Amino acid sequence: MSAGATFRDKPQLAGELLRALRAGTTPPSELAAALGVEPIAVKGLADHLEASGADISRHPILGYTLVHEPNALSAEIIFSHIQDGWRPQIETVTSTGSTNADAFQRGSRDEAGSLVIFAEHQTAGRGRLGRNWESAQGEGLWLSILLRPKSPVPIWHRITTLAALAVAESVESVAGVCAAIKWPNDVLVNDRKVAGILAETGTSPINGPFVVVGIGINVNQTEFPNGIAHSAASLRQVSKRTVNRGELAGRLIDSFGRWLQALDENFPTAIDCASARNSVLGKNITLNAGSTSFTGYAEALNTDGELLLRLPDGSLRAFSAGEVTLRAR
Ligand code: ADP
Repeated sequence: MSAGATFRDKPQLAGELLRALRAGTTPPSELAAALGVEPIAVKGLADHLEASGADISRHPILGYTLVHEPNALSAEIIFSHIQDGWRPQIETVTSTGSTNADAFQRGSRDEAGSLVIFAEHQTAGRGRLGRNWESAQGEGLWLSILLRPKSPVPIWHRITTLAALAVAESVESVAGVCAAIKWPNDVLVNDRKVAGILAETGTSPINGPFVVVGIGINVNQTEFPNGIAHSAASLRQVSKRTVNRGELAGRLIDSFGRWLQALDENFPTAIDCASARNSVLGKNITLNAGSTSFTGYAEALNTDGELLLRLPDGSLRAFSAGEVTLRAR
């Protein structure tokens, strides 16, 4: 590795090899040059990809050809779809209780930020207030991101807005649908919930505060349990086609990495975009905030991402969180 080069772990390098192989048959020497590694390393990375389900034919003169992509969602596949600069550590697990609980535990043990854990299945996925989040096996993106932002903790709540923007953007680019944000933490397509976000903060003995951003995206389900069948939808249902989860995961990480840069001074830009995508603004709503509920007109988002509600007495009140239901006029 040359001086000043950033460290790339094996899944990341294997992901880069996979991306290069998608372009067509390539001699190992060219692959090595493209990846910035020794030719001998290319063989090891190809072996690694094959161990995770890829089929690569190796011709002594023509070079390596990708015959078949791996199917499972792996760190290698996700890295192969990442194009921008943010390269978090990515881990995938087959099944777990909750990726948020896992990332929270890792944060509590003082692990550094920029870790993303994906699960094929969650047995106890959770939403706000301990509600259940349905996480069907192999059909969604169920992930949690552990971060230790340098910005002051009191503005970390903005990350929910940034994550919602990233989800909306990536879903649109991969599935070709139009996504709205139901303030504060859901992403809707055709008025149905295709994704939810749950950010939780914690602190650890040495590294101090951290935040875990949980994201659940319904990707390829064809049906939902009775309780949510009327309100939930998958990208497959709304776009009428199967969506590539690896590609969606890569775009999501690209987009989230970009929006994260708007956490401080550029947050007004994010608010402009989040307002344009907001499904609640300009409507009469009921907002449940803890044990109290308020009815009023959802007027705007303020510069901190809070919802400004015009109450019946004419006053304007800001809410940083709450559960919104639309009311008939
Ligand atoms: P909300 O943001 O809708 O107030 P939460 O963020 O707490 O709710 O998410 C949990 C709720 O979302 C559950 O109570 C259930 O109604 C619904 N839900 C659970 N799993 C899914 C899913 N996979 N897709 C869409 N909605 C879901």
